[in-house]
Amino acid sequence: MKCDPSLLQPVQPAVKSRLIRQLLLPPLVILLMVGLGMAGFLVSENNGIRTLSETGERQLELHARTVESEISKYTYLPSLLELEDSVSHLLTDPDGGYRQAVNEYLEGLNRRSRSRAIFVLDTSGRVQATSNWRDADSFLGEDLSFRAYFQDAVRGEPGRFYGIGSTTGEAGYYLAHGLEEHGKIIGVAVIKVRLDTLEERWQRARLEAFVSDENGIIILSSDPARRLKSVRPLTPQIKERLARSLQYYWWPLNELQPLARETLADGVEKLTFPANSENSQGKPREVAYLAQTRRLADTPWHFTLLTPLQDLRRESMVQGILVGVAFALLTILAIAWNERRKVIATRLAAREALEEANSQLERKITERTADLRASNERLKGQIRERRHAEQTLRHAQDELVQAGKLAAIGQMSTSIAHELNQPLAALRTLSGNTVRFLERGALETASANLRTMNELIDRMGRITASLRSFARRGDDSGQASLEKAVEATLQVLANRIDNCRLHRQFDDQWLAIDQTRLEQILVNLLGNALDAMAGQPLPQLWLEGEIQGDKYRLRVRDNGHGIDPEARKHLFEPFFTTKPGEHGLGLGLTLSASLATAAKGTLSVEHPAGGGTAFVLALPLVTPPSELAEPL
Ligand code: ADP
Repeated sequence: MKCDPSLLQPVQPAVKSRLIRQLLLPPLVILLMVGLGMAGFLVSENNGIRTLSETGERQLELHARTVESEISKYTYLPSLLELEDSVSHLLTDPDGGYRQAVNEYLEGLNRRSRSRAIFVLDTSGRVQATSNWRDADSFLGEDLSFRAYFQDAVRGEPGRFYGIGSTTGEAGYYLAHGLEEHGKIIGVAVIKVRLDTLEERWQRARLEAFVSDENGIIILSSDPARRLKSVRPLTPQIKERLARSLQYYWWPLNELQPLARETLADGVEKLTFPANSENSQGKPREVAYLAQTRRLADTPWHFTLLTPLQDLRRESMVQGILVGVAFALLTILAIAWNERRKVIATRLAAREALEEANSQLERKITERTADLRASNERLKGQIRERRHAEQTLRHAQDELVQAGKLAAIGQMSTSIAHELNQPLAALRTLSGNTVRFLERGALETASANLRTMNELIDRMGRITASLRSFARRGDDSGQASLEKAVEATLQVLANRIDNCRLHRQFDDQWLAIDQTRLEQILVNLLGNALDAMAGQPLPQLWLEGEIQGDKYRLRVRDNGHGIDPEARKHLFEPFFTTKPGEHGLGLGLTLSASLATAAKGTLSVEHPAGGGTAFVLALPLVTPPSELAEPL
């Protein structure tokens, strides 16, 4: 089978676009899912960082203040030594024997203030007395003039310094104050404190923080690994200067190098450090921090609070995944909804088509019903018309029967009148003769005349009786004796049949027709035959009967002039006659045929090859009344 290519054309682009959609949709959805997941992750991380930095801001403030208070609580201590006379005596007279007293005083003060050491230097920077005078590594007699805190304090400025002790190698915070007497600086009082407690406190609180000094070197850190590392790159010149000052003793002062650094705002950074542990693949773990830095009051130092971003990252990742999954779910839902919408649309279209087909069907049914009703009405009308026509026909038939009878009576009346006139004339003559014979006394002759008159009167009675029975309107039902009917007919036609030779070849049968009607039919048939044989020198009439099925066929054949072919077509039409003048009405055959049909029989014509005409009357047979009476 060949397809029309034009029919395929609109289908191909639809299939193609559906194929493209099906091929492109999954990667597109995956791409969008990943993209939205990433976006979700970033948004969540940014929001988290903002929240964290707000919380961190408060934490930063809190812990920075703690550091500030820890540092500032020792600030006043060096200046207190100005009030101690022994200290000023020692400084003004180093060999005056005050050293021991000052040493002991400083020792007690140091113990009470829980500082690391308290010592006094003369203006040349040599240690004159110290709290640790008993220790082997005591500062006593040490020249610390190179220390910056001394140089600042001897100039009358507050000396602040974080460094590693050149004697003990121990890190500490040095606070120095120039001791004045009479407006002149006579020496410098120094207190060394350890800030380890801060570190310990941070560690206990699991806080990640560090303090960097003016050189950017981390001097305090919750993580010991970060201690004495620089937070910013140090130039070789700075490194050399710091080495010369021995501020950090001989520490290499490496730079604290994060794996990644991102400045988020002023004083807020995102730093990623390698973690101490390793992950399952053996790669060093990374730890990201939110670093918030604030300058500490009264010092050139900075406090940095590190807030780990691991939890935030995990949370953001979960949220990113959730966003991706939600998108995937929404997409699946949208696809499912779309598919369902399509199915519903298809169903709706099918239902609409069905409804349309239904309504069309109903419309057609209504139209057909209307047509049928109309044709029914038409048929009813036709039936009414037919019934009316039938009634009219029946009426016409009855009229015809009656007219036929009247015509027959008319025809007969002439012959009857003739028949009756003859006996009447004979009666008149005979009665006159009889009177005369009686007057003469010829009784024999008179009685013979009277007998003849009697016979004549009987004959006249028979003639009038047959006329009465003929004129009476019969009905369709009844039984007739064929023999009786033939006899009655012959009697009616007696005066015309005399010179005709009659062949009687039938049985006496009982037929399902009114006796009078059968006689009417026979009078017509025999009358016509006699008319046809009028010019025949040897007229002959055959009455032949035979049983055929449930009917009896009586054939009335004559040797008359026959019927010419043109006349044969119109034989049974009313008022068709070939007889001249008042001799024929043209109703005899029509009437006879209708009477035969009414009795469920037939009347037909035959044209024998030997000449003449034969009319065949077929009527249903019935059981003779005598046979019916027999069982009684
Ligand atoms: P009518 O006798 O008044 O003419 P019918 O109906 O009896 O009316 O007959 C119609 C015609 O049929 C007759 O006029 C006659 O021409 C023809 N016909 C009838 N019977 C015979 C017959 N036996 N032989 C020849 N012609 C006949």
